[in-house]
Amino acid sequence: MIAGDAIPVLEADRLSRHYDARCGPFGRRRQVRALDDVSLALRPDEILGIVGESGCGKSTLARLMVNLDRPSAGTVRYRGRVVSGLARRDWRPLRRHIQIVFQDTRGALNPRHTVLDQVAEPLAIHTIGDGADQRERAGGLLRRLGLPEPLWRRYPHQLSGGQCQRVVLARAMILQPDVLICDEPTSAADVSVQAQVVGLLQELRQGGGLAIVFISHNLALVRHLCDRVAVMYLGRIVETVPVEALFSAPAHPYTRALVSAVPDLKPGRRDDRIYLAGEPPSPIDPPPGCAFHPRCPHARETCRRVTPALKPDRDGRLVACHVVHGEA
Ligand code: SF4
Repeated sequence: MIAGDAIPVLEADRLSRHYDARCGPFGRRRQVRALDDVSLALRPDEILGIVGESGCGKSTLARLMVNLDRPSAGTVRYRGRVVSGLARRDWRPLRRHIQIVFQDTRGALNPRHTVLDQVAEPLAIHTIGDGADQRERAGGLLRRLGLPEPLWRRYPHQLSGGQCQRVVLARAMILQPDVLICDEPTSAADVSVQAQVVGLLQELRQGGGLAIVFISHNLALVRHLCDRVAVMYLGRIVETVPVEALFSAPAHPYTRALVSAVPDLKPGRRDDRIYLAGEPPSPIDPPPGCAFHPRCPHARETCRRVTPALKPDRDGRLVACHVVHGEA
């Protein structure tokens, strides 16, 4: 468990997900290490950002946290109860507490249902209230999310991207979950919709009782929205810090490179961007030791042999790096 005084609402404990895949011209069987030994705790009411390049395991982690996939090792706990690998009938009563919003919002909506029906549907599935009550609650939430009554009778193809995003969020929030996982909710959106989504998430958390996992590769949005950030590289967490520390004093060499790439339009700013050599390695054949060592400008001999543990540095930040911990 990550250090902190509040009991986590959702917790990943040494979570791994490996897949078998057939690769190459002879279809050799290989193992894809999509997620490796990830531990993470989400505190009540916080917004936790998860960042990293494409393919680093962010979405695999999201799917495991909502029981859409089974881990190869490790567990997910919701309020202390193990929920990973639960059978469908045991998971169903818990599902309403942990909701997920995916990147493709239009694809997440039923093209044959009106806005109001889509948002009321989860209440019907969980047999909460009667039809009139369900529609009244759905209407109240849609109004709160800035969708006026004339839009409630429309179908998804009659909505803008930003309006679809609001409907998907309303559908996820109608059951009043404790945890909302947003998997790249703004990656396909233009800047104005991104701003709307961030504003909506901030508004939703103001009611209290909602913790959010915000998965994104957009560090500017993460900076604006999140309280704490976990940085992932090739299926592992390499650093977890409060958001201010991520931008003012990133510790891990990979985090430093990521942060240096955030555009800063202030006049007179020096170009101190760190350019990483090469592409991220394949999760089919990850490098031994620290997976970042082929691209790391500070790599030492130890880094090529020994996988660094994620542990607190002098300032209490969780970092997985031999050099930061004076081990190499
Ligand atoms: Fe670089 Fe070594 Fe630290 Fe990995 S452990 S980030 S290779 S210095």
